[in-house]
Amino acid sequence: MTYIEPAPIKDKENPLESMMQRFDAAVKILGISDEMYYILKVPARQVTVGLPVTMDNGQIKVFEGYRVIHSTILGPSKGGIRFDPAVNIDEVRALAAWMTWKCAVVDIPYGGAKGGIACNPREMSAGEMERLMRAYTISMLDIFGPDKDIPAPDMGTGPREMAWLMDEYSKAKGMTVNAVVTGKPLVLGGSLGRTEATGRGVMVSALAGMEKLRLNPYRATAAVQGFGNVGSWGAKLLQEKGVTICGLSDISGAYYNPRGIDVEKAIAYRNANNGTLEGFKDAELITNDELLALNVDVLVPAAKEDVITHENAGNIQAKLIVEGANGPTSASADDIINQKGIMVVPDILANAGGVTVSYFEWVQNRIGYKWALDRINRRSDRMMKDAFDNVFETSQKHGVSLRLAAYIVAIDKVASTYKFRGGYG
Ligand code: NAD
Repeated sequence: MTYIEPAPIKDKENPLESMMQRFDAAVKILGISDEMYYILKVPARQVTVGLPVTMDNGQIKVFEGYRVIHSTILGPSKGGIRFDPAVNIDEVRALAAWMTWKCAVVDIPYGGAKGGIACNPREMSAGEMERLMRAYTISMLDIFGPDKDIPAPDMGTGPREMAWLMDEYSKAKGMTVNAVVTGKPLVLGGSLGRTEATGRGVMVSALAGMEKLRLNPYRATAAVQGFGNVGSWGAKLLQEKGVTICGLSDISGAYYNPRGIDVEKAIAYRNANNGTLEGFKDAELITNDELLALNVDVLVPAAKEDVITHENAGNIQAKLIVEGANGPTSASADDIINQKGIMVVPDILANAGGVTVSYFEWVQNRIGYKWALDRINRRSDRMMKDAFDNVFETSQKHGVSLRLAAYIVAIDKVASTYKFRGGYG
């Protein structure tokens, strides 16, 4: 079998390149054939579209939009739409693969996809955003569909954009199709519990990891990097379970109090302070690098990619790292972390609570019913815990890290489904 590969992503420490290094390592352990390797690696479908949009000044600007379906082996593909000036097809391809592994590891019947438009949402009016989103939806009419490909928000998009997508798609189909997209506003068929879902999954994975390490939550300490959706919900829910949150951080700096920070108070402060913790008084101001090296039991990177690298991994004192963010640890840091005996609950497992509740949103839309919050929390907690246990057992069986084990679980699931479906061998 031959395949001419597109030019690789240049930067070696790129989180997406890091993901591919782990993918390759897991494939080696599973002993997967070359044929299957390329079936799993090469996207099933990729589309690039030109989107002419009339801007507020009356001029037409043409944007480039992408949708990459990495895999539909487990079911319809699922993945967000990113609006960012740096979006390009290579990045979207890698993020789409990431979604395949994430859905497989938590046992959701979805394949993986990702979409994006190279644009700067901070410089666009609401009207321009709406026209762009509607143009993108129309150009993806034969790609999207509740049984085919189900988009969701990502960087630069949110419930507002998903509402426009649902409306435009529904108009084109001549009926309301709310299951075509998740992350919608509640009134349009969004799910209860979606906002806190990723932070909640982080809490469940952290407690599961702490149990394995025999850390009692009531005596444990934690530091959380990033105080947005994932970080603040993760910190709040961990505190509710008894964990003392000694460090918090965001783009304005890091805040440390060995006696513990009242997370509710920090959230109220952030909400009243333009979304940042700048000037937060109940803690000492330290740097984000110092936060990563704090003497705490649990470290939750929940801000952005590539913050733990070979340069600072040696300074980490935590016994457990729970990756709320996507790709916060570069592949070059893996060996150092493993040698130090630190347990890492990897991103494709730890932050999968969000896609799990997105799946619940789709299920509710399809059955035309709305579940109560306690049912959603109970079910997502159980799926996260089951996924953790499965990954933990796999790591014991193969004598590998949880990260590699998560990739092994995911790749094995997709590969064996492919074989059963009869497309190979
Ligand atoms: P967000 O925009 O709500 O919050 C990001 C936070 O990180 C903010 O508090 C910001 O100030 C902080 N931050 C940015 N740069 C920083 C830096 N250099 N140092 C410290 N803090 C910094 O984003 P979010 O939705 O919470 O997402 C955070 C991460 O989690 C991202 O990697 C995202 O891809 C991942 N993720 C999010 C979800 C979700 O449901 N929101 C699901 C899966 C994964």
